[in-house]
Amino acid sequence: MEEKLLKSADLLQLIDSNFPFEDYRTNQRETIKEIFELFKNFRYVILEAPTGSGKSPIAVTIAKIFAQFSEKTHILTIQKLLQDQYERDFKDLFVMKGKGNYVCAVNKKPCTRGECRIKNDKKIREGHHCPYLVNGYKAEESKITVHNFDSFFYQRHLFFHQKRAFMVIDEAHNLEQKFMNFVSFTINNKDFVEVQIPEYEDIDKYDEFLNTYLGTLNLELIKIDEQKPLSSQQLVFRDMIESLIRKIAFYLLSKGSGTKFIFEYSKDREVQKIKFKPIYVWEFTYQIFEYADNLLLMSATILDDEAFTKNVGIKDSEYAFLEMPSLFPIESRPIYITDEVDLSWKKYGEEVKKVPKIIKRYLDMYSAEKGIIHTHTNRLVNYIRSCNISNRFLFKDDFRDINSLLAVHSAKENSVIVASGFHEGLDLKDDLSRFQVILKVPYPDLKDKQISARMKVDKGYYGLLTALKLVQCYGRSVRSDEDWCDSFIIDSNFRRFKGMYKSVLPSWFMEAIQYE
Ligand code: SF4
Repeated sequence: MEEKLLKSADLLQLIDSNFPFEDYRTNQRETIKEIFELFKNFRYVILEAPTGSGKSPIAVTIAKIFAQFSEKTHILTIQKLLQDQYERDFKDLFVMKGKGNYVCAVNKKPCTRGECRIKNDKKIREGHHCPYLVNGYKAEESKITVHNFDSFFYQRHLFFHQKRAFMVIDEAHNLEQKFMNFVSFTINNKDFVEVQIPEYEDIDKYDEFLNTYLGTLNLELIKIDEQKPLSSQQLVFRDMIESLIRKIAFYLLSKGSGTKFIFEYSKDREVQKIKFKPIYVWEFTYQIFEYADNLLLMSATILDDEAFTKNVGIKDSEYAFLEMPSLFPIESRPIYITDEVDLSWKKYGEEVKKVPKIIKRYLDMYSAEKGIIHTHTNRLVNYIRSCNISNRFLFKDDFRDINSLLAVHSAKENSVIVASGFHEGLDLKDDLSRFQVILKVPYPDLKDKQISARMKVDKGYYGLLTALKLVQCYGRSVRSDEDWCDSFIIDSNFRRFKGMYKSVLPSWFMEAIQYE
């Protein structure tokens, strides 16, 4: 950080003049000041702050202060929804999106299907301004640019070469998973070109197959490029092949330098698949972190700062950890532990039969209210659907996306969402959810080789992943200090889980627990 900034006579005055709202929420002003103090000694500040504590204004204030001293900031949001929220809530920020969000000046289609791509001719790019490129260069010029994580990862080589003074990564608990997705890849023997995928015991034996497959994909790309104009389907194919080529080449390079990967081979009749995944991602995170001098990583669910920083490759000496308490009254957000069912795999067959009756009881208790049932698995969603319990239910798979589901949920009286995987990206504020039922402790799948490889060296990893999902589920339904929702964890395995992993469950979660 710039010396001049740290020596600034009156930091509180700077904070007050750059804070984007009229009033502070509890602790916001002090937290901003503390973050500046911590940046004197640490490159990273990790901020754990529960939903509703106002993390985004904290980040924006710091970015604006940097801007006042002619220093630039990248703000990265893991989810596009959060990027939209920044755009809606704050001025003076420039929002840069992915290529598909800009309209081609020539054919009026998204730039991913722009005229230069369809005709496969770079010369078409000359003589006019491409909105995607124009926005990319504006983003580069802007003092504070908000990106979503995926498009930043792709665009960093296109537009944003320079390191900035400051970077914010919001929802940073997802960093490991994001990098895991960037580096992992799956080959299907029926995609793009037909291949025979060998079945080996040893990962090294796949190197030769992958090198040959890489050559085949490159030839396929050349064949596509020879055709013009390209259809939408060919463009999608081209992008997918290009991405797979990049990932395979990166895998071979990283593995050659000693990075550990696992593979999962599967065969279902004629379809063979093989997936390669790194065991850890800490070697890759520099690809984002190197774009700033100081980084603020924010989340409601860091849970265990030592495990988090180790997993993303931050050294102990490089970071400081700050926690903000929950501002929501406990009585507005109770978690009732009811021990009604045991859905562990050993007892699943017998116990699952209890689920319809239990759910009916909750539907009766909250007959006039909207709510959500978190199932954790699709198997449970399908079971509930097959039982025809209620016409109040909305199933995630029946909708194109979250927004269309939410539109129906908002309009429909006393509707109840039934879904697995809605622990993030869903804002069920106020009347959108007055009760939520967590059917099952969301343990990760032990059949996943990457998780079992990690567990051999780090026993706590399993508990950390479970706690992360559980706390995120809980956070869906109480979104402000005036909001309220009753949460129920009905899986009797929760007591054992809590006994083993209470150290990673945040205090604001633990203090809300009540036993029935
Ligand atoms: S460069 Fe021109 S033709 Fe290509 S996508 Fe952009 S606006 Fe369209």
